[in-house]
Amino acid sequence: MRVAIVGGGWAGLAAAVELAAAGTRVTVLEAAKQLGGRARSVTLSGQRQRLDNGQHILIGAYRETLRLMQQVGVAPARVLHRLPLQVSFPGCRPRPFRLRLRRLPAPWNLAAGLLAARGASFAEKIGAARFMRFLQNNGYRIADDCSVAALLDRHQQHGNLRRYLWETLCLAALNTAPEDASAQIFLNTLRDSLGGGPAATDLLLPAVDLDQLFAVAAAAFIRARGGEIRLRTRVEAIDDGFSIAGERYDAIVVAVDPTHAATLLAPHPATASVAQLLADYRFEPIGTVYCAYPPELRLPFPMLGLAAQDDGQIGQWVFDRGTLCGTPGLMAFVLSGHGAWEALDNQALVAALDGELATTLQRTLPTVVWQQVIRERRATFSCRPGLRRPSARSARTGLWLAGDYVCADYPATLEAAVRSGVTAARGILRSA
Ligand SMILES: Cc1cc2nc3c(=O)[nH]c(=O)nc-3n(C[C@H](O)[C@H](O)[C@H](O)COP(=O)(O)OP(=O)(O)OC[C@H]3O[C@@H](n4cnc5c(N)ncnc54)[C@H](O)[C@@H]3O)c2cc1C
Repeated sequence: MRVAIVGGGWAGLAAAVELAAAGTRVTVLEAAKQLGGRARSVTLSGQRQRLDNGQHILIGAYRETLRLMQQVGVAPARVLHRLPLQVSFPGCRPRPFRLRLRRLPAPWNLAAGLLAARGASFAEKIGAARFMRFLQNNGYRIADDCSVAALLDRHQQHGNLRRYLWETLCLAALNTAPEDASAQIFLNTLRDSLGGGPAATDLLLPAVDLDQLFAVAAAAFIRARGGEIRLRTRVEAIDDGFSIAGERYDAIVVAVDPTHAATLLAPHPATASVAQLLADYRFEPIGTVYCAYPPELRLPFPMLGLAAQDDGQIGQWVFDRGTLCGTPGLMAFVLSGHGAWEALDNQALVAALDGELATTLQRTLPTVVWQQVIRERRATFSCRPGLRRPSARSARTGLWLAGDYVCADYPATLEAAVRSGVTAARGILRSA
């Protein structure tokens, strides 16, 4: 059996690895000059070191991602820093906010973390514990999807725990503002992280560039099993005979983002309705601002929260790439979802974030040596209440879908992409 995989992002690579491991001949056709899609390393002009197109965070609950990394020979312990979850906003006034989780089984992990949390009132802590208890008792399901903000209102989640814990986790996981984000998808992420095993909430922060995390080893794994990877190969259409550039395939996995998938799926009557569904998707941006300070600058924890947006501040998180990736002094600021940051030019953005970091650390910072701003305008689909998702098996025999948007349980994440790829591959193997 020959299978073509259109798209060499994490979903396409996951499908290819799963199929190649089962002895299937795969060909990955990728439009760009490199693999990795929205999670890739880039060398920008004038920059000596490789950067990622965006700072990525994995968590212990990324079961399939960690399994596949191991399968292609990447030891997670070598390439990821595993740290207990810590949500720390040192610049929060009047008191810094900090919640650290212990590696205990749920619900004790959160209970102990809440009890010891700083910067939240006792009433807020009791309220948050009640909220989690309610979610656990209801299997993290709600009858009708609504926005995360509406869910938090309904369960009287207010104050600093709402702002620095729930809303922060929502934006980090769904890349969609709490007012717009799907409560059910948010609860799914809580179920598998806070409600999961003791290590499920651990932060897994990359110690190497994104390519080294998966794509490079996945490509070697695929080639070693007779598979082919063709870069700079854009697939324009999928004809009735499943032939692409003169070669016939028995099955095809369309593993591209929703916009390009809509284009490929629209012409065929069996997939036209899915194309229409995807054409209506909305998207959220992510900005990553790299600022290189002199090597002495280090953060007290590799991932720190800046202040919240309604204080007129724009930053959300800053990562110490020196501690994480061995590039001392390099900080990566992350700006998730739509916000005031989009209207600022690069210089103004850097100046604002530099000022916010200085306020957070309560010290004068040395001058930024160099900077790089990367704006991914369509970083993720907007994860809204009731968003309809297609299934991996399409109505066209032999044509499968993969991509973060296909994994109906999850928001747009690496784990969603990988799971969708594995699902498509297993579907093909079962129907062979
Ligand atoms: C800046 C940023 C930060 C992020 N942070 C996180 C994070 O911290 N944690 C997390 O889990 N997730 C994060 N994500 C989300 C995560 O990166 C994505 O969910 C995931 O990479 C999507 O993978 P995919 O394979 O589904 O799609 P894509 O990565 O979009 O892959 C699709 C591929 O198909 C190719 N393609 C498109 N059309 C064609 C065609 N016609 N022919 C051939 N090839 C084609 C594209 O070039 C691309 O390589 C982030 C995303 C961004 C952009």
